[in-house]
Amino acid sequence: MRATFPPSGIQLRPRSFLSKRPLSRPQWEEISVMDERNTPMRTYQVCNVMEANQNNWLRTRHISREGAQRVYIEIKFTLRDCNSLPGVPGTCKETFNMYYYESNNANLWFIKESQYVKIDTIAADESFTQVDVGDRVMKLNTEVRDISNLSKKGFYLAFQDLGACIALVSVRVFYKKCPLTVLNLAQFPDTITGGDTALVEVHGMCVNASEEFEAPKMYCSADGGWLVPIGRCVCKPGFEENKDVCQPCRPGTYKASATDAYCTKCPPHSSSPQEQAEECVCEKGFHRAETDPRSMACTRPPSAPENPISTVNETCVTLEWSPPRDTGGRGDITYSLHCRKCSGDGRKCTPCGSSVHFVPRQFGLLSASVLVTDLQPDSNYSFTVESQNGVSDLSPTPRGTVVINVTTSQTGDVLLTRRLFNPLLLLCPPLQNQREQNYTVLKTRSNMMTVDGLKPGTTYVFRVRARTDGGYGSYGGEIELETSHEGKEVKNKHLFTRDLSFSLFFFLFIILCNWIAGFIFPPPRLPGSRTYIHPHTYEDPNQAVRDFAKEIDASNIRIERVIGAGEFGEVCSGRLRVQGKREIYVAIKSLKAGYSDKQRRDFLSEASIMGQFDHPNIIRLEGVVTRCKPVMIITEFMENGSLDTFLKKHDGQFTVIQLVGMLRGIASGMKYLSDMSYVHRDLAARNILVNSNLVCKVSDFGLSRVLEDDPEAAYTTRGGKIPIRWTAPEAIAYRKFTSASDVWSYGIVMWEVISYGERPYWEMSNQDVIKAIDEGYRLPAPMDCPVVLHQLMLDCWEKGRSDRPKFGQIVTILDKLIRNPASLRELDPSTPEFSVNTVDEWLEAIKMGQYKENFSSAGYVSLDSVLYISVSELSKMGVTLAGHQKKILSSAQGLQTQGTHVQV
Ligand code: AMP
Repeated sequence: MRATFPPSGIQLRPRSFLSKRPLSRPQWEEISVMDERNTPMRTYQVCNVMEANQNNWLRTRHISREGAQRVYIEIKFTLRDCNSLPGVPGTCKETFNMYYYESNNANLWFIKESQYVKIDTIAADESFTQVDVGDRVMKLNTEVRDISNLSKKGFYLAFQDLGACIALVSVRVFYKKCPLTVLNLAQFPDTITGGDTALVEVHGMCVNASEEFEAPKMYCSADGGWLVPIGRCVCKPGFEENKDVCQPCRPGTYKASATDAYCTKCPPHSSSPQEQAEECVCEKGFHRAETDPRSMACTRPPSAPENPISTVNETCVTLEWSPPRDTGGRGDITYSLHCRKCSGDGRKCTPCGSSVHFVPRQFGLLSASVLVTDLQPDSNYSFTVESQNGVSDLSPTPRGTVVINVTTSQTGDVLLTRRLFNPLLLLCPPLQNQREQNYTVLKTRSNMMTVDGLKPGTTYVFRVRARTDGGYGSYGGEIELETSHEGKEVKNKHLFTRDLSFSLFFFLFIILCNWIAGFIFPPPRLPGSRTYIHPHTYEDPNQAVRDFAKEIDASNIRIERVIGAGEFGEVCSGRLRVQGKREIYVAIKSLKAGYSDKQRRDFLSEASIMGQFDHPNIIRLEGVVTRCKPVMIITEFMENGSLDTFLKKHDGQFTVIQLVGMLRGIASGMKYLSDMSYVHRDLAARNILVNSNLVCKVSDFGLSRVLEDDPEAAYTTRGGKIPIRWTAPEAIAYRKFTSASDVWSYGIVMWEVISYGERPYWEMSNQDVIKAIDEGYRLPAPMDCPVVLHQLMLDCWEKGRSDRPKFGQIVTILDKLIRNPASLRELDPSTPEFSVNTVDEWLEAIKMGQYKENFSSAGYVSLDSVLYISVSELSKMGVTLAGHQKKILSSAQGLQTQGTHVQV
């Protein structure tokens, strides 16, 4: 960039700018002539070619340099060719000299010739042959010279003629400057260039709402260009960069530190209602510990420890328990114990005092066990185990605790108890209208007991405890059983217990049931019917259960371990002995105690729905246990559990054909359901189960399921809970659930499968998802997704539900793909090349934007720095999913080969 000097004028008027040196001989003369455009202009002319020994000077007034160290002088002139002048002597010249003289004095009247410094001898490129200065077709010469390293206030210019014929038309003096600019959020002012060689070092000022990350500076080069930017500013907390300015984070987002990252969405269980948030505030009931990074989800205190076990050895006791089911979202669980010594009847308890010792310690235990020593023999103790985490102290709600009562022995025998299920030894008090105090104690050495002689139509309560030579264990919970009324004679009642290995400990439990002879019927099938019958169409929902589910004798079931938690109680795995067949593995869902009638109905509705289906890709119902408690639903066992967890665990480990095979299975199950006019409403990878052969089966058919059970379901503005990310727009908007809306959900399941369990629409809020879908946005192809599969997903997500494929068509398409694997080879090119300049842009471009904070916190701020990043570095910074690591690494390698172009 050039600036003229003085800034306003281009042509300097001779009268004001140049002056002749007052000499007696005729010298430079100020003459008016017409230029090419016929406008009059003033020139200085000299043309004493006929006389020898010329020395004519013309000089300017004082020109202030205004801080510039180097100035440029552009002169326009005409010069007469000596040959064209007839009869001129050999002294005729075709050049003149230009000089300057630096001075702080602006009013010098006289400067000696010897004081001037010569700038150059100027010759003409073009000379004119016509002497006539009034010639309109003047040929102007333009020459530019510069003077550098000026240091005084200003200077004078001078032109020396030694006998030429010159007309000086204009003299323009200017300097150059680097223009005001903003780079890396730092503003660099207009800067006048330096002298001969010097670059001018300029410090930038951080723009609004930004601060120095590293002192910003640049160099202004002699020709007015900015060079070598160093350092940068970054937006302050609560602000993000947008086109050279820092703007406040939008509500719902935040930025905790002064980095060049963008504002990010509030972590789970927090929000930021105002703009410019530096952190998000936790929802009620959730907290953030002082040391928690602000990017971490808000968390809550843990639930109580579970399954406590005590092992008494004389005056020592080992207490063990399982970690709380709800960790509150944190990994820093610790346990503390409180010990009280109790009277024989357990009514009066006092703190144990310091004589009792805890190994390794009493408070802040990291592991779920402790050895308590120095107890008094033959005494009762009550231990309260409290689970805590980093936010327990911040929460006003009571702590999660579990109490373990222990009786020490004198003999040195060992007592084992476990309270996961009900322990051994039976007490069987009859219950009439109110509980009687005279208990009947029944003893058995076996793990099973038949109780005879019970009164009909009577409720009995059983409690079980174990005894060894070391003494009694504590009672398990109460088991209530009702015998049949008169007329339906109770033959007998079986109580039985079973041994079960479970981690280090041996424990015992019983299943209770009444078994009434002749009460077991095979469930009738509706002959030829292919239409699903809704249990609500039954006046008596129990009849629906009887119609569609086989009653199983509980004595044929062996429960082995807890595998999950359902809405109504635990889900266990175990074995079922079916007459005439070998034992099969089953999943056992039980209805927890204290249920209401409605809960029982809802629980069993799943069985009456599932019992109507018979398809290799629908979870098979084995039967129900309804005639004794707990009420149970028995289904085939699916070794690999739910599909979403399974895929996350095996990220990147299957071939496309295997994945398509799974999808084909799900589609086939859904075709069967839609053929039966059953609309699932909650089709999602979490509701698909996988067996050991990778066969996928659709599950989760309860009636209350979509409303209550699914943690993904959110309330819509029209009321009702809907798993928004999986649900078709018409079902969200006006509850239009059809097989076509199931097809939409199937498309989402496809996306979940191909992306190995990625969360659809990542961390977008439900509201944003609804809005985006309405505006036509659809999930992009997951990494390595064959183009045909993404196209099929897009077809499932057609806005018009009649435009979506039917499940039958989906099965056909997938079958074709499996038969012709070559068709799966073309990967989705959805992904144009992006040109990226920053790490954040790069991560966004490869759809890994969720890791921007991880990268910036780990110090990866420039693209160069990510070129050679390794898997272990990614893991360290919290990118742990193998698929994501793969994607980031392969793209980083691409950066090495393609520069700043990435394929995503
Ligand atoms: P649900 O009540 O169906 O949501 O089941 C809760 C959890 O128990 C599921 O997420 C599975 O991990 C597990 N589960 C349920 N049914 C089965 C089954 N048939 N086989 C294996 N795991 C199961």
